[in-house]
Amino acid sequence: MGNNGIYLDYNATTPVLKEVLDAMLPFFSHEFGNAASRTHAYGWQALDAVNHARQQVAALIGAEENEIVFTSGATEAINLAIKGVYEAYRSKGNHIITCATEHKAVLDTCKKLESLGARVTVLPVNTDGQLDMNDLSEAITNETILVAIMMANNETGVVQPLRDIARITHEANALFFSDTTQAIGKLKVDVNDEGIDLCCLSAHKFYGPKGAGALYVRRKKPRVSLIAQIDGGGHENGRRSGTLNVPGIAGMGKAAEIAARDFWDDAQHMSVLRTQLEQCLIDFGNISVNGSTRFRLPNTTSLCFSGRNASEIIKAIHPVAVATGSACSSALPEPSHVLTAMGLTEKDAYASIRFSLGKMTTEEEITDAIEKIKRAVGG
Ligand SMILES: *Cc1c(COP(=O)(O)O)cnc(C)c1O
Repeated sequence: MGNNGIYLDYNATTPVLKEVLDAMLPFFSHEFGNAASRTHAYGWQALDAVNHARQQVAALIGAEENEIVFTSGATEAINLAIKGVYEAYRSKGNHIITCATEHKAVLDTCKKLESLGARVTVLPVNTDGQLDMNDLSEAITNETILVAIMMANNETGVVQPLRDIARITHEANALFFSDTTQAIGKLKVDVNDEGIDLCCLSAHKFYGPKGAGALYVRRKKPRVSLIAQIDGGGHENGRRSGTLNVPGIAGMGKAAEIAARDFWDDAQHMSVLRTQLEQCLIDFGNISVNGSTRFRLPNTTSLCFSGRNASEIIKAIHPVAVATGSACSSALPEPSHVLTAMGLTEKDAYASIRFSLGKMTTEEEITDAIEKIKRAVGG
């Protein structure tokens, strides 16, 4: 890595792979056409690249090409999924179910709809960070139009039981949207196996570029209706207007192809190093894992350094790049809503650090990081 740093914050973003960059570069310069230009070869070339990427992205999640809507990232895809379904199914009901540990893009979108008349149920999680299926069954009614539950949590890596959630959701004739942003490239995500009706991807979370993402929208069994949230030239079958980000989309396609090829080996590699990091620190004392260690991403560990302050540890272990519980989106950092929802005290939430490994993380980086952390907390 640059900066002589040890980057252990891959859940925040990942570097663009060389193969991915190479796949993008032509579309910045000589192949600069607009994919919507149908009258000349510049446009056809761009459209070919977009179609190829659509195949690559669809193949990664077991979808059909016409079920992929390109967006600027997962946040936009989430807004389109939740607001788009809400508007399309308004006559059926106005109830949305989500969960306390969701990403802010989901929670804030639901809040916005609540202010516009939606009824929103935010389900709790247990200390493992998992949803209780009885809570879901009790909350769901025939007014429920959408259940929005993430596959894997960005802060803890905890994985939810998607198949059970999908079954309960479909029994109530509602649609199931899953924020799969963190799962892509780390777990197998197959929309049919999991019973997903809508899900989202963000290229920069799986070694593609920032500013490119996609929404999967099921076409059959059931065919999901969606009201566009960005109007204009009718791109993406009228579901998301705006000139396509051809370089970004080409890069995301390449990143998807590589993820499909490598995810299993990457997962093995990362989980070995993650276990090493976690075990060494736990053995050191007064450090514990937040959330389930059984149902979890292979690359993530959220550790609570009891009685300590995470920001001070992070300063002391410079240049190891990690994250506190909360992505401090504002000037005053709040304790992580994910960790407090799991029952951690504010103090323990402020004592927690997220370590997220990537495919290029080395054993040397991990042993180095362990030493620095031990020195910082052990005195
Ligand atoms: C990163 C992330 C998002 C937002 O993705 P962007 O493409 O950066 O907007 C949403 N949900 C989860 C779980 C994430 O990790």
